[in-house]
Amino acid sequence: MSEDLLRKSSRDKLAKLEVQNLRRRLINTIRSSNGKILRNSQELISFSCNDYLGLTHHPEVIKASQDATYEYGTGSGGSRLVSGNNPLNSELETLLAKIKGTEDAIVFGSGYLANLGVIPALVGRKDLILIDELSHACLFAGAMLSNAHTIHFKHSDISELAKLMTKQRESYQHCLVLTDGVFSMDGDLAPITALHKLCKKHKAWLMTDDAHGLGVIENGRGSSVVDGCAIPVPLQVGTLSKAVGAYGGYLCSNKETIELIRNRARSLVYTTGLPPGNLAAAIAALKIIGTNIELTNRPLALANKFAASLGLSPPKSPIVTIQLGDVERTMRVSMELEKKGFLVVAIRPPTVPVGTSRLRCTFSATHTEAQVDAFAKATKEVLAIQ
Ligand SMILES: *Cc1c(COP(=O)(O)O)cnc(C)c1O
Repeated sequence: MSEDLLRKSSRDKLAKLEVQNLRRRLINTIRSSNGKILRNSQELISFSCNDYLGLTHHPEVIKASQDATYEYGTGSGGSRLVSGNNPLNSELETLLAKIKGTEDAIVFGSGYLANLGVIPALVGRKDLILIDELSHACLFAGAMLSNAHTIHFKHSDISELAKLMTKQRESYQHCLVLTDGVFSMDGDLAPITALHKLCKKHKAWLMTDDAHGLGVIENGRGSSVVDGCAIPVPLQVGTLSKAVGAYGGYLCSNKETIELIRNRARSLVYTTGLPPGNLAAAIAALKIIGTNIELTNRPLALANKFAASLGLSPPKSPIVTIQLGDVERTMRVSMELEKKGFLVVAIRPPTVPVGTSRLRCTFSATHTEAQVDAFAKATKEVLAIQ
């Protein structure tokens, strides 16, 4: 029976994951407006959420979402090119382009979908992709879908990238360089200024994924701003699902490129537009991000406080990682912290390379100083015995 075969094949694969300690399970998690979460009937303070500014529970954001849902309904009813293009889409795109300082922007169903759609629409078989080895999984997925010749370069290694460019660039028509702006599992920043310069020299296009930058880096403007100075990165993708507190993805770029994407990105053309309530939430959140520097600077300030008390080097983003290497130890530390009332999920392969399991702590504007101090104290205690 083919169905029995399917069941057996799935069971065998799961057993293999179990043996490697890599089997993962969904745990019901209820997040509430005070920043606390409920998991396994236990109340925890979370240092594992990407809602950096607490905007998922901001009264103005919730109200905007409710109003738009009442006015336009719960779903968009079609793909954007057919009947699903609620005017909130273009309002949101105008706001995104303004914050990023680009000519135009386009909104996708998610950050993952943005990368799956944008990369194959821009490059193909005759082209070259150079991608930072620690980029997010969806950049690799987009690169694979494009069928462009793809080479991974060492993490943030400009001299290796320069060598690859010199050696390879001429054999291809177009060249696209892909990187996270803020690396999602490490929290460090890509060397944007150097990347931009190198790409210009070799007529390559730089595309950054700013999922963890928008709203929390450089007064909320994101990773394309370096020491207060905006670098004109020609392709900036990102998500509305982290600091923006809603759901969706985007690309900010020049007018012609955005118009091409509107026509050719398959993950935009063949999928339903975002629900109106979600678009309205993102608009309300971006308005807050654009006008509240005190809020947007707080997550990084709290991350700095935590890192300092653990003797770690100052973080560049609200993501602080504690590398433990070993999967079992990382799991144990995470479990002990949970017993003490803190949620810090263990990050392990395949999300990160083998041997680099870690605690990934994210800081939010909703955390109090006292919560961060208590978390630092608990972390030190657990690390000392585990
Ligand atoms: C989270 C993340 C994404 C995915 O965004 P979604 O909107 O959640 O699909 C893409 N890229 C990076 C770098 C991310 O961290």
